[in-house]
Amino acid sequence: MRVAVAAPLAGLFDYLPPAIPSDQALVPGLRLLVPFGRARRVGILLALAARTEQDPTRLKRIESILDARPLLSPVDLRLIEWAAAYYQQPIGEALFTALPARLRQPSPLLDDRVPGVQVTPAGQNRDPANLGRAPRQRELLALVQAAPAGLAMSTLRQRLGDCGGPLRTLREKGLLTLCQLTPDSSLIPPPPLPETNRPNLNPDQMLAVQAILDALGGFRSFLLDGVTGSGKTEVYIRLIESVIAAGRQTLVVVPEIGLTPQLRERFTQRLPGPIAVLHSALNASERERNWHQAARGEATLVLGTRSAVFVPLPRLGLILVDEEHDPSLKQQDGFRYSGRDLAVRRAQLAGCPVVLGTATPSLETLHNAGTERYGWLRLPQRAGAARPPTISLLDIRNQPLQAGLSSVLREHMHAEIAAGNQILLFLNRRGYAPVFTCHSCGWVGGCPHCDARLTLHLHLKRLWCHHCDWSQPLPNRCPDCRSDDLRMLGRGTQRLEDDLRPLFPETTITRIDRDSTRRKGELDRLLGTVQRGEAQILLGTQMLAKGHDFPGVTLVGILDLDQSLYASDFRAPERTAQLIVQVAGRAGRAERPGRVVLQTRHPEHPLLQSLLRDGYAGFAAAALDERRAAELPPFAHLALLRAESPQAEAALAFLREARALATGLEQPSVQLLGPVPAPMERRAGRYRAQLLAQCAERPRLQQMLAQWNTALRALPRVKGLRWSLDVDPQDML
Ligand code: ADP
Ligand code: ZN
Ligand code: ZN
Repeated sequence: MRVAVAAPLAGLFDYLPPAIPSDQALVPGLRLLVPFGRARRVGILLALAARTEQDPTRLKRIESILDARPLLSPVDLRLIEWAAAYYQQPIGEALFTALPARLRQPSPLLDDRVPGVQVTPAGQNRDPANLGRAPRQRELLALVQAAPAGLAMSTLRQRLGDCGGPLRTLREKGLLTLCQLTPDSSLIPPPPLPETNRPNLNPDQMLAVQAILDALGGFRSFLLDGVTGSGKTEVYIRLIESVIAAGRQTLVVVPEIGLTPQLRERFTQRLPGPIAVLHSALNASERERNWHQAARGEATLVLGTRSAVFVPLPRLGLILVDEEHDPSLKQQDGFRYSGRDLAVRRAQLAGCPVVLGTATPSLETLHNAGTERYGWLRLPQRAGAARPPTISLLDIRNQPLQAGLSSVLREHMHAEIAAGNQILLFLNRRGYAPVFTCHSCGWVGGCPHCDARLTLHLHLKRLWCHHCDWSQPLPNRCPDCRSDDLRMLGRGTQRLEDDLRPLFPETTITRIDRDSTRRKGELDRLLGTVQRGEAQILLGTQMLAKGHDFPGVTLVGILDLDQSLYASDFRAPERTAQLIVQVAGRAGRAERPGRVVLQTRHPEHPLLQSLLRDGYAGFAAAALDERRAAELPPFAHLALLRAESPQAEAALAFLREARALATGLEQPSVQLLGPVPAPMERRAGRYRAQLLAQCAERPRLQQMLAQWNTALRALPRVKGLRWSLDVDPQDML
């Protein structure tokens, strides 16, 4: 038996069948309890093998089979095995990422079905009045007849008290039978949609829907490239309706569910359930219950974050990935996989279409669409009556600013407020001020554990590190020269809020960032005030760029993106362009046209110029040319070997050794760059360095990585040193 064991870094192990033969067949996907070292661990049976490379006399036995049925189907297992191999992760780690956390322990499955009673066909046709002089039986049969799908035992007891006797008699007569019921609260389909809420698709939407419907039943990838408000969600809904009608399940993968309650709401309102939602904010048992609902084939729609890509779906018919460009679709620690790329792979294994939707496609996906590997479906216009926003640059060099706002922007704001409209101000920096410094000697508050400055959080009277979460009370005097002339520089969202109040005294201001939405439910509440028009100025960080509809917003001010224009990461221009277009897309979604003003000290910057002149498509075409010339993704493939250690030299030393190992692997088409210290060399007290592997051909890179990984794992352990291999890295931090 080949078994994957639930332990970090654990691979495959061979075991003998359990000592006590059971009548249960051993099939791949079953959860098992196996002896592992001195402990016992949960494992998943991957394959049955007749021979082993280990010494057969030393093989241990499987202790027991944990579940009555396999948790994962052969296709599920293939996806996970593929992912483990592609991302160079131990299969055990990958498998247990795919399962609800509780199932890594030998605990029994959380079966949320409850015992119930149901009528048999004979019982359905039997008139209770014919049961003679048995009033309790008559009552019981009539009650259960009224619920053809079955009645929970607890309900029965509630209504009739103890009725074990009559129940037994009716079962013996073949009129009633015991059954297992799914709690129906989550399974009641919503009332059918009133036809008036269902817009007629415009011609672009119809073409997109038709193209994807035509592909159902086989594998095909599509890019649904539609500007914000073009009706992509409407396209999703129509597709899901068809898939449900065909008796199949749809998987929808989104970057962050907490940030997009609207998508979920629209799905629940428009689609016949049940919908299983899966994300990290759910508690473990909610998650597991929803997971089982999906895995049993009961949920017709599964809406989840990246790990939902692994959820077993016996009737899978379609996969949708919304906001496919979003970096949070990639897991950034542990098992570093891309939810989007695995969605495509899964569709291929399952033989169904996959649709990647976004207003700002990633350059990888655009390249796939441009080379016709993916179907390219465009929705260039806003749906219905909404018109696109106009974007303009505002040169703020030598401009007097108040609260960081130029006078032109302030005038626009006053005009919009007077007209009863809403305003969105985007500032991608939370906290009060990013720099706290001594005016006498130049001391700057820095994190003792990171190469980073501390952010001032004035209301909490603390200096905070946004990289390792370390904080300290706000000093009254300079720690270096004892001067009390301490000043803050720059502006975060909290300070913007404070500075705006005197400028717009009669105006309601709502701030949305990670600090203002920490409490559960707070984001929904704040969004509600904006939705209802109670908030006139909405300000916040990139949380605002994600999927929310603000129909009343007619003016968007983008205050300060200049830093990201010159960031070193090769993806920075792409990210910045996406952010601008996504924020801009929040404006004027209803009938009111929107205006977007971007303040900058670099109005001549080529990125801003191409974005303004040619839109995102023009920008992306130019950016793809640059990537081609620089041999960067999607024209080359990357893997980043990261190392970190509390000792300054250890990480670099390890990577030098790793480089020497790689050079010995004779894969000349793979180029190695580095090792170099990471852009933020010290974080949370650890020194970090990285080594980049680059190759034009993915299979060659994969081959090399597999050998390299094995060699690296065989190296003697260095105390305190951690390393990880990141295939298709999303950021180079
Ligand atoms: P996206 O997902 O591309 O941002 P949505 O699907 O949310 O776009 O559509 C934006 C708005 O336009 C929504 O209010 C939606 O109800 C509406 N809408 C979508 N399709 C149509 C249509 N064909 N006719 C009229 N309104 C539409
Ligand atoms: Zn000082
Ligand atoms: Zn820190």
